[in-house]
Amino acid sequence: MIVIENVAVATVDASDSYHADGHVVVGDDGRIAAVGAGPAAEGEGRRVDGAGCLVTPGLINTHHHLYQWATRGLAVDETLFGWLKTLYPIWGRLDAEVVGAAAGAGLGWLALSGCTTSMDHHYVFPRDGGDVLEAEIEAARRVGLRFHPTRGSMDLGQKDGGLPPDNIVESTDEALIATENAIDRWHDPSPGAMLQIAVAPCSPFSVTERLMSEAAELARRKGVRLHTHLAETDDEEDFCRERFGCTPTEYAERLGWLGDDVWLAHGVHLDDSAITKLGATGTGVAHCPSSNARLGAGAARVRELLDHRVPVGLGVDGSASQEASHLGEELRQALYTARTRGGPGALNAREALRLGTMGGARCLGRQDDLGSIEAGKLADLVLWRLDGLGHAGIDDRLAALVFGPAAPVELALVGGRPVVERGELVHADAGTLAREAVRAHRRLMERVT
Ligand SMILES: [Zn+2]
Repeated sequence: MIVIENVAVATVDASDSYHADGHVVVGDDGRIAAVGAGPAAEGEGRRVDGAGCLVTPGLINTHHHLYQWATRGLAVDETLFGWLKTLYPIWGRLDAEVVGAAAGAGLGWLALSGCTTSMDHHYVFPRDGGDVLEAEIEAARRVGLRFHPTRGSMDLGQKDGGLPPDNIVESTDEALIATENAIDRWHDPSPGAMLQIAVAPCSPFSVTERLMSEAAELARRKGVRLHTHLAETDDEEDFCRERFGCTPTEYAERLGWLGDDVWLAHGVHLDDSAITKLGATGTGVAHCPSSNARLGAGAARVRELLDHRVPVGLGVDGSASQEASHLGEELRQALYTARTRGGPGALNAREALRLGTMGGARCLGRQDDLGSIEAGKLADLVLWRLDGLGHAGIDDRLAALVFGPAAPVELALVGGRPVVERGELVHADAGTLAREAVRAHRRLMERVT
């Protein structure tokens, strides 16, 4: 049992309850036993003094490509398509060892940024690369994060009019069989699951229509969720109009890819009709403002998405298209992006925190167990330290968290189990993860030179 008290609490419950001086009690079952104003009742367990801190639900990362930690800092001035064409040949040399090291570094860094649940979108499976999905699952266990890896796929190579080189795509049947095997082997449907799989063909310009529609059928037969990239750039829009004669959203609709079991990465280039369709079908969006800015892809219409009741979560996106990969910083970036488009009323600090927590839980289908601090929910919590030089003097602690610099994580719990304490990983060593990531990067780059 852990009792956090003398602390500000942003619950992100349905009425956005906020306690300037409150408490959270975590039970032995790894779930929240109590939350409220004032001190906690006397009782057993570890007592944490939250003076100078704010406790929020753990942040949920809804879009990432962890393997990209091994290829950061390349093609830094390119568009998405130019960046992909530079990186595809390098990614074609990935193996389980490189992916495991990259995922360890990426997940360790995410934990230190206040993330307690992350998805991963892995779609590159070189033939002689070993079991890369298993490697990243092992990395998540090592760091201690709740993990939603997706079995991604690409089956539309250059010879068939796609963007990726032919040697890094799978056949449609290979991709579908491997995806079904991944679900059977790894997916845990239980409410407290630490590991869930989703089905994630990569994008309209790297996947055939047959793989998109059969992947949707597979996911629905297995009761798992669906994810893909959609409406990220103008180039993608042009590709869809030329090849399919419609917008990316119309393409997704045609293939059975709108629904409350689907969340889409980016959703930058959505017209009014597309936003209406996403809202009406409950299709979620993983908003990745820093990645969109880094690639100059545009700014998602988050205010309009929220006004149409679209579930919107935050994502750092792959570490090679957004080298910072810091989920805590995405709260501020999301707010800035919305306000740059729509003025100061476009998004407030509470809404930004909701995107990073409850919005993410809805995208991953975990809203009954994650995303808010309420009795009975899983105790995935972050205690942010806000009395240091960067934040001291900002009385509104939620404003300090969202508008201030990246806040140190005093304590992060996943299912009541500490994964970060006083800014350090509990189960892994950050220095070791960094050294392993450097070795993986060098090994990979040597293979392509
Ligand atoms: Zn992505």
